[in-house]
Amino acid sequence: MDCIFCKIGAKEIPAMMVYEDDHAFAILDITPRAPGHAMVIPKIHASTLLDLPGAEIGPVFEALKKVTARIEEVLRPDGFTIGVNHGDVSGQTVKHLHIHILPRWRGDKGSSLHAVVNNPPQEELKDLAARLKF
Ligand code: 5GP
Ligand code: ZN
Repeated sequence: MDCIFCKIGAKEIPAMMVYEDDHAFAILDITPRAPGHAMVIPKIHASTLLDLPGAEIGPVFEALKKVTARIEEVLRPDGFTIGVNHGDVSGQTVKHLHIHILPRWRGDKGSSLHAVVNNPPQEELKDLAARLKF
């Protein structure tokens, strides 16, 4: 498959790999938005979270926690923004699920996840909740 993250996972393409286990790996982003900007990536190909088999969810999040803890220990940021661009409209450019870890420092001129969109619903929240409830 012509997927850059599958190729990095298979060591066919080099990357700054900072973590690896049987289910996931983490690399430093080639165009970092902050020191320590890393991505945790499942080893199996899945375009988005919705394509990732349930059994892989836990291990990928375990890896996310380990890598975040390591960055915290080494770089001592004030916090993190952790997130996924899911689908073209959100800015996903690599179609293999990856979870960005963005270390944050006070005064880094960044913003919160709320800044990525401002499109409040027209529908009443209670009606939306009724439609979404399992
Ligand atoms: P997206 O916009 O899909 O959430 O982010 C994809 C990220 O992957 C981008 O931040 C981009 O810099 C990073 N990226 C793309 N190609 C490579 C690569 O070959 N190596 C590494 N380390 N990062 C990459
Ligand atoms: Zn892939």
